[in-house]
Amino acid sequence: MEKIRESIRIDGKEAELHQEHPVRFVCMEHLDTQIDEYVDEFEVAPDTYRAESIEGKQLDKRCRECGAPAEVALLHEKGM
Ligand SMILES: [Zn+2]
Repeated sequence: MEKIRESIRIDGKEAELHQEHPVRFVCMEHLDTQIDEYVDEFEVAPDTYRAESIEGKQLDKRCRECGAPAEVALLHEKGM
């Protein structure tokens, strides 16, 4: 099976992500609960970036909890 490489850019710089850890977008209101959920689900503290810093194809930049425009991206970058 072909390996799908998750490729995104953060502030114009190519970033390599842990494939098993998704990029999630959240609004400020749900930031804390979504960080907790990320930690619970993946047993890792996510790196946080401003949502507008993240560039990539097919990114749905809406809060996964309420659907509002997201302000923060949660992800897990390699080497962090
Ligand atoms: Zn929200």
